[in-house]
Amino acid sequence: MNLWQRYQARVQRCCCRRAAQADQDVMFWRDRLFADMMVYLLPLSLLALVPGVWYSLKTGLLEIVLVDMLMVLALLWVALVPGISIASRKTIILSLSYCLTFVLLFFAGLPGPGLTFLFAVSVIGLLILDRPGPLFLAIINTGFCVLFGLAIHFGWIRGRAGHPYSLVEWTVISSNVLFLSYLVSALLPRLFNGLQQNMELQYQLRTQLQSRQSELAAAVIELEKKNAELEQFAYVASHDLKEPLRMVNSFMTLLQKNYSQQLDDVANTYVKFAANGAHRMHTLIDDLLAYSRTSKEDLASEDIDPAEIVQELSSSVFRDQLIETGGRIDCELLPVINGHYTSIRQLFQNLIGNAITYRKSGQPPLINVSGGETSQYWHLSVADNGIGISAEYHRKIFKIFQRLHSKAEFEGSGIGLALCQKIVEEHQGRIWVESIPGEGSTFHFTIRKPGHKKSFRK
Ligand code: ADP
Repeated sequence: MNLWQRYQARVQRCCCRRAAQADQDVMFWRDRLFADMMVYLLPLSLLALVPGVWYSLKTGLLEIVLVDMLMVLALLWVALVPGISIASRKTIILSLSYCLTFVLLFFAGLPGPGLTFLFAVSVIGLLILDRPGPLFLAIINTGFCVLFGLAIHFGWIRGRAGHPYSLVEWTVISSNVLFLSYLVSALLPRLFNGLQQNMELQYQLRTQLQSRQSELAAAVIELEKKNAELEQFAYVASHDLKEPLRMVNSFMTLLQKNYSQQLDDVANTYVKFAANGAHRMHTLIDDLLAYSRTSKEDLASEDIDPAEIVQELSSSVFRDQLIETGGRIDCELLPVINGHYTSIRQLFQNLIGNAITYRKSGQPPLINVSGGETSQYWHLSVADNGIGISAEYHRKIFKIFQRLHSKAEFEGSGIGLALCQKIVEEHQGRIWVESIPGEGSTFHFTIRKPGHKKSFRK
């Protein structure tokens, strides 16, 4: 801190000590203004000593230089000496200004500077005092002017040599100053009132906002905890269910293989249903495991060419289905993206798988994968010519276990799109669908580009 900063800090400490109320009380800003005024008043009053001394020497009025020096000393005391209340400091400063006015009018015979000072006292008072201080000052000013008028009338003061006071002139000039004093003391407090109300309102709003924010933060933490517990539960449950299911499956297969001859047709149908059920359960558990595993994995990101994934899926996972249905997957020029490879592959697998599953009967599925990018996201879309989805289900289908069709119509577990949503959210993007029932659906998703994204959750 240099000398000027140390001086400023000292004056601020002496003249303004309520920083805690800065955001709710206009009085703090009045004190602050007073402190700032004191910071500049001291050096300026030192400068003002020069014309004061010069005037005194020229006119022989030594009272002026005496008063000026006393003023500077008083200012030093008010601005820098601790242990005086702020109200007392303000009162001293205003009283000193009145003294100076008195000297200018009475001893120096200078009505111009004297009345200017008088008006300045009103304005400064308005800025640094709370109600009813400013009105009180305007009344003091009135008393001052009337007293001087009487003094002129009775010849107690005469003005300077060659420039005697005239009662008429004094009345005209001082009444103007008084008029202005009353005007500002009526108007400025309104402004401060408005400011005070505004500050209180803002303070209330900010307090409310802060408490809502902390409530929200607590709710988010609670929600994250519950989510993690739920994921853990789904993971453990689906993992533990696999073993007994595998047993049911293998014994059903053995039953079908070794005892189908001994059982009648009805019994064989029941065994088939049970085996189908066990098979569906197996798929469900696998999907559930995949879903609960997504956020558990360490999502290391890498550059991925989505076109390669689509190509690979068409020639492996979906090869037979495409041949069987006469379907086709077209892939436009896609941007290379950055993400977790296995998750992105799973995402495309689910979307393309659905596009094939939910085709119109008797029509080969035509799937088109396209992509683009903005400054922050890659945007990819998988469009099909399938059965489409009514608008009221466009959000619902992304919830876990939400299906629009029975098992008899279409096989499925209701987890695929929930998993897609989870993967996309892990990549800080979003997923949505546009669809016209009977014409087809387009699933869009975005992936946030690195540099714009937070690091992956571990
Ligand atoms: P699943 O396919 O296992 O039922 P999903 O979460 O993948 O579960 O899909 C949820 C529902 O959304 C499906 O039951 C289906 O009704 C609808 N859906 C998903 N993809 C499509 C699509 N491409 N065309 C029409 N409907 C779809």
